[in-house]
Amino acid sequence: MISPVLPTYARADVAFERGEGPYLFATDGRRFLDFSSGVAVTCLGHAHPHLVAALKSQAEKLWHCSNLYRIPGQERAAERLVEASFADTAFFCNSGAEAMECAIKVARKYHAATGHPERQRLICCTGSFHGRTLATLAAAGNQKYLEGFGSPVSPGFDHVAYGNLNEMRAAVTPETAGVVVEPVQGEGGLATASNDYLEGLRALCDEFGLMLVFDEVQSGMGRTGKLFAHQWTKIAPDVMGLAKGLGGGFPVGACLATERAAQGMTPGTHGSTFGGNPLAMAATNAVLDVMLAPGFFDGVNRIAGLLRRRLEAIVAAYPALFAEVRGKGLLVGLRCVVTNGDVVERLRREGLLTVAAGENVVRLLPPLIIDESHVEEACGIIERVARQWTQ
Ligand SMILES: *Cc1c(COP(=O)(O)O)cnc(C)c1O
Repeated sequence: MISPVLPTYARADVAFERGEGPYLFATDGRRFLDFSSGVAVTCLGHAHPHLVAALKSQAEKLWHCSNLYRIPGQERAAERLVEASFADTAFFCNSGAEAMECAIKVARKYHAATGHPERQRLICCTGSFHGRTLATLAAAGNQKYLEGFGSPVSPGFDHVAYGNLNEMRAAVTPETAGVVVEPVQGEGGLATASNDYLEGLRALCDEFGLMLVFDEVQSGMGRTGKLFAHQWTKIAPDVMGLAKGLGGGFPVGACLATERAAQGMTPGTHGSTFGGNPLAMAATNAVLDVMLAPGFFDGVNRIAGLLRRRLEAIVAAYPALFAEVRGKGLLVGLRCVVTNGDVVERLRREGLLTVAAGENVVRLLPPLIIDESHVEEACGIIERVARQWTQ
């Protein structure tokens, strides 16, 4: 008999009732060090006092009123994201897939609005992940996720190898609207774009008049040690999708764009019933209060450097288990020699939560507020599991 919850997840048999900072407490009393952050979402840990206070206070005033009216918290969040980025404008939605749907629509509409309605195709990279809606599945082109959901799926997407500028250039046609790329492929296994690649994409898009779209749903909101991962480079996209860490655990996504890119997005062209509601915006503004405070990212980069060094040492000590450290900042992981899912399970049994990713990687996505003691605790658990495994 099918479970009342549609069984699309192979869930671990553990339930949590409470969280505190980087720790989760299960209903059976066990404590876990949470280096999964609900898949890169709870970026400031669990029950962060500033986020709790912001959400509580908003909950007593107004939850929802729709986008038929002005929403002061939304205007403030948009102004702050614009101020902190390349963008001139922001659309708020409820998830990463919705953020990327909006990004795809912005890129296509730009060309329609500037006299090139035939420019509708997006070039995307193999190994990417952009969400589970039909268009974002088609964008990523992962056959495993598309199987049985229609043929053709949502049309208009071409695919090239990640990191290869020549292939990207060769794929451009008169129907190309833009390029969609993750600066770090989160779900795909933490392949990380070089600055040269991202800067080359910018030059290519400028040369052919294409929209450069970054999916920073996972790599954004401080994960790599800057607010957005592309801020490690000299360039910026025209359009960018955000979600995951944006609300610190409250569901919210955003699509950011330059004024030029967004010129087709006039009243009636896009919408969301829930997007940018007062509760989500209270959470988003509270996350921004913490992240935009002076020195926040210095702390993230210091702790990410420490974690990286500890992981490099573990890989060197246990080559029968681990092949390499991958990723950037606190979007990091171990490519395994043994099966990654087995490693995730053994770590969980020892009290450390991690997430599997593509290419046999175990992802470590700790909240950005961890300190040295949490790095030591996590690496101690990984070493213990590795020792037991190799005995
Ligand atoms: C998680 C993720 C998405 C989809 O986000 P949802 O909130 O699950 O829809 C899109 N792109 C990237 C890069 C992601 O990591």
